[in-house]
Amino acid sequence: MRPCSPACEWPPMPKPEAPDPEWLARGAAHVWLPYSQMKRAAPALAVARTRGSRIYLADGRELIDGIASWWTACHGYNHPHIAQAARAQLELMPHVMFGGLAHEPAYTLAERLSALLPGDLERVFFTESGSVAVEVAIKMALQYWMNRGVAGRRKLLAFRGAYHGDTFATMAVCDPEEGMHALFKGALAEHVIADLPRDTAGEGVLRGLLAAHSHELAAIIVEPLVQGAGGMLFHDAEVLRRLRRLADEFGLLLIFDEIFTGFGRTGAMFACDAAGVVPDIVTLSKALTGGTLPLAATVARRHVFDAFWSDDPAHALMHGPTYMGNALACAAANASLDLFEREPRLEQAARISEMLKEGLEPCRGLPGVKDARVLGAIGVVEFEREPDRRALQQRLIERGVWVRPFGRIVYLTPALTIGERDLTALTGAVRDALSAGGRDP
Ligand SMILES: *Cc1c(COP(=O)(O)O)cnc(C)c1O
Repeated sequence: MRPCSPACEWPPMPKPEAPDPEWLARGAAHVWLPYSQMKRAAPALAVARTRGSRIYLADGRELIDGIASWWTACHGYNHPHIAQAARAQLELMPHVMFGGLAHEPAYTLAERLSALLPGDLERVFFTESGSVAVEVAIKMALQYWMNRGVAGRRKLLAFRGAYHGDTFATMAVCDPEEGMHALFKGALAEHVIADLPRDTAGEGVLRGLLAAHSHELAAIIVEPLVQGAGGMLFHDAEVLRRLRRLADEFGLLLIFDEIFTGFGRTGAMFACDAAGVVPDIVTLSKALTGGTLPLAATVARRHVFDAFWSDDPAHALMHGPTYMGNALACAAANASLDLFEREPRLEQAARISEMLKEGLEPCRGLPGVKDARVLGAIGVVEFEREPDRRALQQRLIERGVWVRPFGRIVYLTPALTIGERDLTALTGAVRDALSAGGRDP
């Protein structure tokens, strides 16, 4: 455990910005927003500052944050320990190229991630985003077979409901509809898409599919325990044990995309721990730096790395992002791991889980609600039909919370450090906004 410096306290809050900042209107004509029909998108809210589980808007309003910025800010915003580590690293060396130059933050982080992950998941390849970490995992899996002299294994087995990123290689392993396979047909690699083996019958179906396709498959890729951005769909650990058995039976690599589940979100440090399954490759990102800087990692087991260990230069993994192993981001990630070591994050996740169950369970009775479910520090309310998202979001903001509905769900993935009062306010606001929706004309 690394010592906490005496400066590990919240810094004073800066003064709020102008209520209607000029940069917002001027820049809005030049910014292209994510996942938005720009013609109809609600204007983005101007944020002046953040702290803990609070978002302070430029107009003076304060929102309780229910999703920790796509579940990255697991220790809350502006954690002083991470801020201090990043400041110190910024002074020393923000970045040097990773080709030929080494630095302590990345080498220490690689060692710490290896120690945290189960089995011999021990070789870490750093990138800057989740999608690229998955691309690297796919590249590793395909080349693993080539390097071993096995031809023709160029496809993956992926699952309906999956989300693995927005780049072309990753879209191809997403859910066919959500991943826009039809829209980009011809431009996307074609893989084998299956249903998760949720029971022994499902295992039988998948075994049949694998028997037909295993000669052309390099790996199975799955988000363990939770299919996140595909709709927050949960499955139990037995599904992952089935996948491990089937991968072994057919001699395939097994990739766990833990970009969503990693770092305590499901209640265990990693979903693979909870399942007692050691995949061959794991991808990490999202909460890796505690929501401060972009960083991702693809971690391989020894036998995967060994397939690249050779006197033949053609057997090398030809990948190297410009900002690979960014020292600033790695320093932030090390500080985030310090916090997991010395603060009771998993106990906090368990408490959040109980409170989410209590707080969201009553949503089941509301009109239009199909399901309410909780796993670890993830709470989900699913509707029968896609709601008027803009109106729902507006009602949530009016109730002082930041929650972003998508598709047929609203979900809560708060910081693991959120206070009980804030969490109670969050679930109360969700219940209230949903029942108010029932009264809308
Ligand atoms: C967010 C996410 C990704 C993509 O990460 P980006 O950093 O947005 O590219 C991939 N897989 C899973 C499971 C994710 O949740």
